[in-house]
Amino acid sequence: MEGRVNWYSQLMAAFGIFVLVYSAYMVLSALLSLQGGRNDEAQYSLMIGLIGIALASSSLFLMRKRALQVKPPPEVFTVVRCSGCGFRLVRRFQVGDYVNADIGQCQQCNGRMTIASIYAESEGGAGA
Ligand SMILES: [Zn+2]
Repeated sequence: MEGRVNWYSQLMAAFGIFVLVYSAYMVLSALLSLQGGRNDEAQYSLMIGLIGIALASSSLFLMRKRALQVKPPPEVFTVVRCSGCGFRLVRRFQVGDYVNADIGQCQQCNGRMTIASIYAESEGGAGA
């Protein structure tokens, strides 16, 4: 799913860059024809080019801002602890997990295993 999103935003970025380059080309050729004395035509394409640059750069800017905002969801872990021997286990959070939930028997002393805590860790974070 993530790969598809990246592919889409890359296509949009490529399109934005294309519009930007094309608009810059229009502005450049308008300036050249201004020098050649063709004022009406030049002013028209200069205006179109500048609008194109403004639109393309603003959409690229918005896209970049959105891309920076999209962060992977934090990883959630569940800490399971035995009330008998204190054996501690950390595993990935599963739907239905809650603190003090009875998980089952301890692998070491056959005591009761309960969820001690649930915590989230952002990607790349070392954690405690
Ligand atoms: Zn135990």
